[in-house]
Amino acid sequence: MPKSKSAKTAPEQHVFEADVSRLLHMMVHSVYSDKDVFLRELISNAADACEKLRYEAIGAPDLYGDDPTPRIELTIDKEAKRLTIDDNGIGMTRQDMVDALGTIARSGTKAFMEQIEAAQKGADATLIGQFGVGFYSAFMVAERVDVLSRRAGSDDAWQWSSDGKGTFEITPLAVTDAPVRGTRVVLHLLDDAQSYAEKYTLETMIRTQSGHVPVPIRIKDAGEAEASDVTDGAALWTKAKSDISAQDYTDFYRSVAGLYDEPASTLHYRAEGRQEYTVLTFIPGSKPFDLFDADRKGRIKLYVKRVFITDEAEILPRYLRFVRGLVDSADLPLNVSREMIQESAILTAIKRGVTSRVIGDLEKLAANEPETYAAIWSNFGPVIKEGIYEDFERRDALLALSRFATTTGDSLKSLSAIVEGFKENQTAIYYIAGDDRKRLESSPHLEGFKARGIEVLLLTDPVDSFWVSSGVSFEGKPFKSVTQGASDLSLIPLLDTSKKTDLEGDQPTKDLIGFFKETLGEAVSDVRISDRLTDSAVCIVASEQGPDRQLEKMLMGAGRIETAAKPVLEINPQHDLIRSLAGLDAGRDTLKQDAAHLLLDEALILDGERPSDPKDFSDRLARILRQSIG
Ligand code: ADP
Ligand code: MG
Repeated sequence: MPKSKSAKTAPEQHVFEADVSRLLHMMVHSVYSDKDVFLRELISNAADACEKLRYEAIGAPDLYGDDPTPRIELTIDKEAKRLTIDDNGIGMTRQDMVDALGTIARSGTKAFMEQIEAAQKGADATLIGQFGVGFYSAFMVAERVDVLSRRAGSDDAWQWSSDGKGTFEITPLAVTDAPVRGTRVVLHLLDDAQSYAEKYTLETMIRTQSGHVPVPIRIKDAGEAEASDVTDGAALWTKAKSDISAQDYTDFYRSVAGLYDEPASTLHYRAEGRQEYTVLTFIPGSKPFDLFDADRKGRIKLYVKRVFITDEAEILPRYLRFVRGLVDSADLPLNVSREMIQESAILTAIKRGVTSRVIGDLEKLAANEPETYAAIWSNFGPVIKEGIYEDFERRDALLALSRFATTTGDSLKSLSAIVEGFKENQTAIYYIAGDDRKRLESSPHLEGFKARGIEVLLLTDPVDSFWVSSGVSFEGKPFKSVTQGASDLSLIPLLDTSKKTDLEGDQPTKDLIGFFKETLGEAVSDVRISDRLTDSAVCIVASEQGPDRQLEKMLMGAGRIETAAKPVLEINPQHDLIRSLAGLDAGRDTLKQDAAHLLLDEALILDGERPSDPKDFSDRLARILRQSIG
């Protein structure tokens, strides 16, 4: 409580209005693991003070005196173990100091104290992290804090002083000792906080935590006459778009993204309405090296009123992690902690809004700037496709944004273009998945599709096998692997119908199939006539249930399944070799057995695998070669 106001020369002793020592203890030991935040808090207070003055001076320009330019200046004195933060903002009266620095009944800290109480009664302790504690964080690094201040337009100045342990003193300041206008916060650094008297450390902290605070920040050593600039106080994103040049955007992109190319696309807008925030994001012009890091971390920075809060707020979903930039909210409390930011309903609304806009921007580029979009897709398509199975709500939009290599032509195609080109009776979007486009293109599985003019997607990204088998469909058309199940191609007419001879009911073919089944036994799950083959004699396909063969390989490679399912061997009854085998006399069983095994092995090899038994394979091959030589 303040003592007699007449005691102008002797310091007045005040008691904090709540249990500050306990608060400080909590702060140092459990709330912030990162002490660096004290500087962010003090700089943001200084910047706030400059903004308040800016506002008041609108009606009373005299308040500026002859010093109208806002400024924040840090002075370090290593020997004296001191860090000083000066601002020429609004300043504080004596009463301001008592109210603002002497009480913790303000919204943030009050709630903070309530959470401490709750936590001590067994409530969720992590909730504490939701509240920052502003000015008091200075005591994480200082054994004593002096605040010298002169309110703008006021004649007298005061000094507030405390060790943060329960009491503070307020003393009047001689005019010569006081700042001309504004506030000086002097931190007498603790022994374990001496690194905060290092210029380089502070410069780095300022740039990363407060680089875009809208007041220029300077720093100097106690011995130096002139301070040097650390930041220029310009928050680019707050400017009108018309005042920002392409070069400004590029420079900013480079500093915020840490990349040195040109952005492929820039999105800068201000959301107004229920939530107010500014967004400035970039799609990089090239692939960042960490695109496929296992943590799949996003890089969008979150600001609150131009004060950097965190770059771990996961503003965008992981499949948009290549987007760089920031969101600046006008609604979130500045003291929201990094730890608890995810719980905020305001942030949830911001995330939804920004995600929709980024996807909308991609849609616009796809429609209006196909070349730009093609470059973006070639860099980030494999990442965006993760969203097809991760973001159910936006699945259709993401499928519509996707572009694919296909069996017809060299250019990438959209799914709607592919559906538009459907053939008579075609009901599914067909695909073939594998690592290598060349090998996919020459796969025998495609023959029957080519013969019918059906366009097949060539999927070569590892992610493809996953989304495509997750039950998705596009415009009601399911995706179907050409290497899986019966292909149902018989209903779709051949381009050249003269080639088709119906051998379904042909007895020698039926007999050959029966013979193959018996010979191959457990090695296959079935042998059947294929309608996907026109030129090759055989191929293997996966059965209708379970994964397609490419996904199966990937799952086995990752140890997720142990053994592959038995494949189906499909034969082309039209093929010379099959016809000759079907026409062989009953006495040639050994030859037919060798042929059955060799044809299965051949199909495996064409599929990029090895013969099931290499020794057996070479024996049979040698036997047949010897026979043919005579
Ligand atoms: P908050 O910034 O959320 O209000 P803080 O604990 O950071 O909480 O600061 C408490 C109050 O102290 C501020 O609201 C402001 O009134 C006052 N204050 C702190 N630093 C300054 C400063 N540099 N200039 C003027 N007032 C300040
Ligand atoms: Mg503050």
